[in-house]
Amino acid sequence: MTEQERKIYDTIFNNAVLFLHRGIREVLTHNDRKDSPLNGETGIVTTLFMQMSIELALKAFLIKEQGVRSILLSRYQNKTDEYIFEKFENNTLHTKKYNDLKQILTNNESLTWFSETHFDHLEQFQQFRNKLVHLNLFLGEADLYDLKYEIIYVIVHIIVPLLSEISFEFETPTEFYQTHLNKEEYKKLISFRPYVDEMEKLAKDFTGLNYYCPECYQKTYSPENDLCYCCNLNFEYAVEYTSCIVCNEKKSVIFDPHNIAINNHVINGLCLNCETKIMVHKCPECGIAYSFFGRDELKKCTPEKCYYED
Ligand SMILES: [Zn+2]
Ligand SMILES: [Zn+2]
Ligand SMILES: [Zn+2]
Repeated sequence: MTEQERKIYDTIFNNAVLFLHRGIREVLTHNDRKDSPLNGETGIVTTLFMQMSIELALKAFLIKEQGVRSILLSRYQNKTDEYIFEKFENNTLHTKKYNDLKQILTNNESLTWFSETHFDHLEQFQQFRNKLVHLNLFLGEADLYDLKYEIIYVIVHIIVPLLSEISFEFETPTEFYQTHLNKEEYKKLISFRPYVDEMEKLAKDFTGLNYYCPECYQKTYSPENDLCYCCNLNFEYAVEYTSCIVCNEKKSVIFDPHNIAINNHVINGLCLNCETKIMVHKCPECGIAYSFFGRDELKKCTPEKCYYED
C-alpha cells in the first residue's frame, strides 16, 4: 500500500469497526436467557449496522489486496494517488457499486475463502438492507430467531476475517474484539449463546476437538492448539494432555508438565470432557502420559519403570 492508500484504508477500516461495534452493542441488548427471537427493532437496527460494516470491510479488504483503484470507478484508474486522496478528503471520491465489488470476489475465487454459505449471507444482508431502506422488511418470529445466528455468522466469518486475515486453525476471532471492543461488551459477547454456539462449531470444525474450557466453562477449548475459541484462554507451552480412562476421549485430560518431574512424575489432572479429577503419570523415559486413579491401573509405565525400556 502506498502512503495515501494506507490512509484511506485506515479510515475505512476504522469505520467498518465502528459499525461492527455498534451492531454488536445493539444485538447484545437482546436478553437471550429464554432463547427467544430478537425483537423487530433490534433485528432491523443490527442488520443495518452489519451491512454497513460488511460493505466497508469489503472495501478495506480489496484496497489491501488489490490497491485502492480496485474499488474506484474507471475514471480514476489513471489518476495519481495524490489526486485520489484529495478527492477522498473532499468527500467526492466515487467508488464502484457494492454489487460490482462483490463481483470481484465471485470472479476471483482465490482472493477469499468464501464458500456458498458466505455468499448466501452476503446476499441476505444486502437484500434486508435494500428492503429496509426502500420500503420495509417484514420479519416473522422464525426469521427473527434465525437472525441472531445469521448476525453472529456474518461477524465471525465475514467481517472479522475481511478486516484481520485471521486463520481459525491458530487464532480465535475473540482476539480481534479484545483489541477493538470495550471490555464490558466483549464480556457480554462471549456469554451470548448464539456466539458461544458458533465458537463451539469453530473449534470443532477447525481443530477436530472441542472440550470444556477451564476458564469460561464453555465447550470451546481445543487441545490441538491449546486455545479457547470463546474466551481466548491460551495455554500454549503451559499444559499437556492425555486420554481419559473414564470417558475414553483422546487428549481430554489436561495437566501441568512443568511440575510433574519434582512430584515423582505424578500430578493431578482434569478431564475437560467428563470433568473427572484424575491423576496423571508422565513417564520420564518414553514421555508417554497416562491417566489413573489407583497405582494398579498403571499397566504400562510406572514411576518406577518404563514399559518400553529393554
Ligand atoms: Zn474459555
Ligand atoms: Zn473424561
Ligand atoms: Zn515409559
